[in-house]
Amino acid sequence: MTVRRIVVVLQPVPLNLGLMKNAFCYMVLLVLVMSVMVSCEEKATYTMAEAVEPQSQPATDTIEEQQEDTLSPMYAFSYDGIDADTLMHRDYVFVSRPIPEAVKARMQGKSMPDDATIGYDALRYLTLYHYDYEGNIRQGEMVCNQAIAHDLLCIFKTLFAEAYPIHSIRLVDDFDADDEASMQANNTSCFNYRTMVGTKMISKHAMGMAVDVNPLQNPCIKHGRVHPETAKDYVDRTQDFPHKIDKDDFCKKVFSSHGFSWGGNWGGSKDYQHFEKR
Ligand SMILES: [Zn+2]
Repeated sequence: MTVRRIVVVLQPVPLNLGLMKNAFCYMVLLVLVMSVMVSCEEKATYTMAEAVEPQSQPATDTIEEQQEDTLSPMYAFSYDGIDADTLMHRDYVFVSRPIPEAVKARMQGKSMPDDATIGYDALRYLTLYHYDYEGNIRQGEMVCNQAIAHDLLCIFKTLFAEAYPIHSIRLVDDFDADDEASMQANNTSCFNYRTMVGTKMISKHAMGMAVDVNPLQNPCIKHGRVHPETAKDYVDRTQDFPHKIDKDDFCKKVFSSHGFSWGGNWGGSKDYQHFEKR
């Protein structure tokens, strides 16, 4: 009886151990599955964090860092880092930016006299491209009022896209801000703090609101005098000659489409090189 009872008591033990063993295995399996799930969740969270972080980062970046991330090498090359406006045609980047210190040094005492009533903050420095008279692509530079900087980027990009010939686009400071010398060199330019030719009135160029294009073939004729004085061959506008700006000229049409008036339309004196915005 006692033996049998023991047997009876002992008999279920191996069965229970088997069940416990199975349960233990299930638990181990469950723990393993859970740990794998947790580890995947952690991994997923980490990956999400990695993916989100770079997208939210630019909000706190400087403009310079953002630009460098997204710009072509040529853009980055042309770009000084602050507040630039750009337009592209093929690989050529037309840039408008605040006047760089090195350019101020070139302008001071020349196109920007010490008593000028306009400051550098109101002006922009443009990097432009153009075709010269021989059909070569040239880089040009121009200083203008910030109010027309974007217009000029658009206008010169359009002229470039149509290969409109422009002799040169340099700062008048390369000619010691001597307007006559710049015109005789057939140079296209904008800002020069000066009076109007033949008067004591401040010119639109003094505010950076006017551009003179190919001045040798398109002189200013005022009170019977020709400016530049070397342009006498181009005074008769009934003649046909290359680089003449008339009412049907492409450059004239592009400036007009951006709200510029043309000096060739003035009554009395004529200024065929001159486009200005009020
Ligand atoms: Zn002018």
